[in-house]
Amino acid sequence: MSTPPTARIYRPTPRNLALLANVLARGGLVAAPTETVYGLAADARNATACRAIFRAKGRPANDPLIVHVNTLAQAGEVAQLNDAARKIAQAFWPGPLTLVLPKQRGVPSIVTSGLPSVAVRMPAHPLFRELIARSGCPLAAPSANPFGYVSPTTAAHVLDGLGRRIAHILDGGPAEIGVESTILDLRNPRHPAILRPGAVSREALERVLGYKVSSYARQAPAQTAAPAPGMLERHYSPRTPLSLFAKLTPAAIRKLPADQAALLISRPPEALRGPNIFWLAERAADLTGAAHHLFERLRALDAGGWTRIHAECAPGQSALALAINDRLQRAAAKRDV
Ligand code: AMP
Ligand code: MG
Repeated sequence: MSTPPTARIYRPTPRNLALLANVLARGGLVAAPTETVYGLAADARNATACRAIFRAKGRPANDPLIVHVNTLAQAGEVAQLNDAARKIAQAFWPGPLTLVLPKQRGVPSIVTSGLPSVAVRMPAHPLFRELIARSGCPLAAPSANPFGYVSPTTAAHVLDGLGRRIAHILDGGPAEIGVESTILDLRNPRHPAILRPGAVSREALERVLGYKVSSYARQAPAQTAAPAPGMLERHYSPRTPLSLFAKLTPAAIRKLPADQAALLISRPPEALRGPNIFWLAERAADLTGAAHHLFERLRALDAGGWTRIHAECAPGQSALALAINDRLQRAAAKRDV
């Protein structure tokens, strides 16, 4: 028998927000919602507090944390902002975009895994922003899940994964976007590069910068070193083996054994439905809905006792299609590579 979770889930009342901000200001950990996924937050200036994040997640020390800020001035205390970063921040912050920049001296090396660069983001979620404002701390926060597992998009997901390892979870309802932020490397502002695809598209970044943004975000070939530690194949993986296909055809769906599940992007016609057929959105064009439901669905399938999940890619090349397919590829990579 497993022991019950010991973490407490807090409703977002003013009193609870004050209490949780106080926990953060004193070097404690708080899991809290952002618009992308739930994060496990600690004071980014406090090395001991940040070390506790790595411990709680079982995260290796070579996987650096994203620092969340409330104002551009606070971003400037964490990272050395260049003109390109200011322009991009002006256009996309607050929002699901993380910038990698040269770090300021005050950022402890545990946060950046010893790198001279730091990842910084101004999230849009009002509750997370309020925790930063009330605590007065820039907040280092990776996803609030055990390292390598599917990211959490609800307080219940956090409780599931970390409920015995942390004490405080702020419930802000389901995370709106459902996949992690786009990470843009601006260390060299002349050669910006996307390290992880998210809701902010390469085209939108190029429009604001006025020049080309490259992307390392597609599967890096195995023989090249991954430029972002977050590109580790192990990330975002369910325990159930997952096979990824460009598209699951009606023939493939009909042939599926009863102990294996299909995960489609959108609802199939009536004739193709069955107890082992699942989907992410009502309509194929609704990738916002598909991204929003992706991690929740992967978790539910993982708990369903299926021997294998057969998933299909999101259609097209939009930011969310690339983000969904990136997470599905990582989920598939765990067992098959
Ligand atoms: P998460 O996995 O959601 O915790 O997001 C953190 C990710 O941000 C890491 O896994 C890296 O991919 C990326 N990141 C954080 N700090 C840096 C950095 N200094 N340089 C490059 N990438 C970084
Ligand atoms: Mg993560």
